[in-house]
Amino acid sequence: MYKNLSNKLSDIFSRFQNKKLNQNDIQTALLDIENALIDADVALEAIDQFKNHIISQTQDIEKVKDLDAQSYLMKLIRSALLELLSTPLPTPTFESKQLEIILMVGLQGAGKTTTCAKLAYHIKQNKPNANIMMASADIYRPAAIEQLKVLSTQVDATFHPHHEKISPLNICYNAVDHAKRVGTDVLIIDTAGRLEIDSERMAEIAQLKQKIKPHHTFFVIDSMMGQSALQTAKAFNETVDISGIILSKLDSDTKGGVALSVRTVTQKPIFWCGTGEGVSQLEPFQPERITDQILDMGDIIGLAKKAEQHIDKAQAEKMKKRLEKGQFSLDDMLSQIQQISQLGGMHSILKMLPGAAKIPDHIMKMVEDDSKLKSIECLIQSMTLQERLQPELVRNQKSRQNRILKGSGKNKLDLKQLLNTYDKMKKMADKLKGGKMKAMMKQFAQSGQMPFNPDDFK
Ligand code: GDP
Ligand code: MG
Repeated sequence: MYKNLSNKLSDIFSRFQNKKLNQNDIQTALLDIENALIDADVALEAIDQFKNHIISQTQDIEKVKDLDAQSYLMKLIRSALLELLSTPLPTPTFESKQLEIILMVGLQGAGKTTTCAKLAYHIKQNKPNANIMMASADIYRPAAIEQLKVLSTQVDATFHPHHEKISPLNICYNAVDHAKRVGTDVLIIDTAGRLEIDSERMAEIAQLKQKIKPHHTFFVIDSMMGQSALQTAKAFNETVDISGIILSKLDSDTKGGVALSVRTVTQKPIFWCGTGEGVSQLEPFQPERITDQILDMGDIIGLAKKAEQHIDKAQAEKMKKRLEKGQFSLDDMLSQIQQISQLGGMHSILKMLPGAAKIPDHIMKMVEDDSKLKSIECLIQSMTLQERLQPELVRNQKSRQNRILKGSGKNKLDLKQLLNTYDKMKKMADKLKGGKMKAMMKQFAQSGQMPFNPDDFK
């Protein structure tokens, strides 16, 4: 994510290491940053707002003594990026006692139908007893209606059925009637979109908005698209006065332009973002997380959240105590590997660490393949507990090796590699003996540097 932009910004920052800042530097840095933002498809209006923010903060820069140019510049850029992304408006919570209607709009393929289900799921997470109904006004693609119907069962929402031959407006009228009759809390209406702005479709959506008077009109935008998506955002906002934005596909390879510009271009808040295809993959939009990812400060908050959800605290504490004593067995290695896969694999962990944009693509590709970890898991699972605790038994006895290879379906080389990797990890554990882990983590937190050298992976 944002890899190009992150790399360019980090190159610019590196020029200011151990330097005092002056107006000239600011001007040249600003020009380079502007080019990096243009390359990332950021809209000109947003770039202007960004520049104005920086300029207003650096008027008296030469009066500030002993300024660490690099961190000052980084702080400035962070606050300018935050300004592009933040809004003071609170995210809707759907607390009303009466029926709340949501109209979902956007281009075809933006992720509207999927987001209808995600939103229903999200509402249910906060209010498990909420009655949610979904209706599809996309009469042009029967498959889209079926898609919403299937999704509604996944999220335990009622689907409003309708005859294909009636107009989108009548579908909506009927759905609202139906929703009121059965005491629905939230009615989510999915609409049709074309591949590009189309006057007929826009007129249809404008009519739905005017007649149905939804409480919320959410515009779904694909964050992987370029500048053209921003034109669409503008057109939708002018036509239906959207109430908020949902950024979809933030998990994909995005340059960052849509995320950084859509608020400035529409003057509307971004409420949620989609981070995957699954119905649970919708998150409240957090400007700080995106800004830190762009500045390659890593997504430590996200990683901590993931770890909290998936890591067994008691087990982690036990592991820490063992490491402090310099103890590390194959059984410990197995439990670490299992935790890595619970966190989404090595690739997804590395992606969230500070400096991730600097890890070369071929290394990222290499860790994307978790088959090595799977192979290790298979081998260790074929060992007895005694063998896991005393790996030298495996190393020294051929009969044990043969039994393990048979049981795991792996070959001699796999076993040799496992024992070598174990030796390296055991050496590392020896280094952590006597509470040295704390010191290492402290150093990591203070320096913001990765706790490992990416070259070690080569
Ligand atoms: P619509 O035409 O606007 O209704 O778009 P759909 O909801 O049918 O989504 C289009 C495609 O994008 C589908 O394959 C979805 O699974 C996918 N999609 C939607 N949201 C996300 C997301 O947040 N992340 C990813 N990776 N894919 C998404
Ligand atoms: Mg759809």
